[in-house]
Amino acid sequence: MKTVEYCTDTPVTRVGDIQVTSLLDGWLSLDGGAMYGIVPKTLWEKQLPGDGLNRVRMAMRPLLVRTPTHTLVVESGIGQAILPDLHERYGIERTGPTLDELVAAQGVDPSSVDTVACTHLHWDHSGGLCKLDGAEYVPSFPKAMYVVQKGEWEIAANPSNLHKASYAPESLKPIEKRGQLRTIKGGGEIVPGVSFDFTGGHTENHAVIWFESNGEYGVFFGDLVPTISHVPTAWISAYDINAGGSYEAREALYPKVLERNARCFFYHEPEYPVGRLVKDGRKIRGEPIPRQDRA
Ligand SMILES: [Zn+2]
Repeated sequence: MKTVEYCTDTPVTRVGDIQVTSLLDGWLSLDGGAMYGIVPKTLWEKQLPGDGLNRVRMAMRPLLVRTPTHTLVVESGIGQAILPDLHERYGIERTGPTLDELVAAQGVDPSSVDTVACTHLHWDHSGGLCKLDGAEYVPSFPKAMYVVQKGEWEIAANPSNLHKASYAPESLKPIEKRGQLRTIKGGGEIVPGVSFDFTGGHTENHAVIWFESNGEYGVFFGDLVPTISHVPTAWISAYDINAGGSYEAREALYPKVLERNARCFFYHEPEYPVGRLVKDGRKIRGEPIPRQDRA
């Protein structure tokens, strides 16, 4: 069985004049069968072996993105979202700093972050958008605009029974209350060089995020492709609300990623936070980008 070499540092990748730092909020362990959907264990355990409870241990890697004109954070980890019972069930490992502290550790003043964007608002991606100040949540970045898909916000702020287990609305609402929410419907520019590409699939309103500078490209997959082992088109998580939609979104997105030779950022990837897509005959797989080739 493969030994997983967990990446615990914060690699920096360049996309033209854009500098992308993969941060680390913590870890969670999700059922391998759920994480790999229809893919049999005999296949997925060669990529990411499960623990004694058949769970695969995955990272949460928000991005700190510095463009020539803006300072952004993409995705947020679980942060201090209060999730009764879930910490044990999902093997959540995080006792460390809040997202603003992770950003400060990179030499960036949290109050200089002007934009925060999310692919979707499930609690493992949005729990750190706000942090606790006493018993009250306040935005982790006091001067930032938080940019999310309109439909995603509507579901997250007021989840139905179907969605209740996936969102932590109390840790999101202060963003709107303080006038820091900006919603976009579908594709569109977040700031110059950074844009949404709507996919659906994982959630009804999931969108991946592109970086573009001086003819170079990067793409942050969110949960459309959570780890590098999920790149093959049919390796779709059972957490996706619409697996067929994810398949179609990947079929539409991958040719663009290949053509642009985009650097790919994997939010839940335990070993290789940055990679690229490679075409092998008719199949597409993920390949890590070695450290020396990223900067
Ligand atoms: Zn996730």
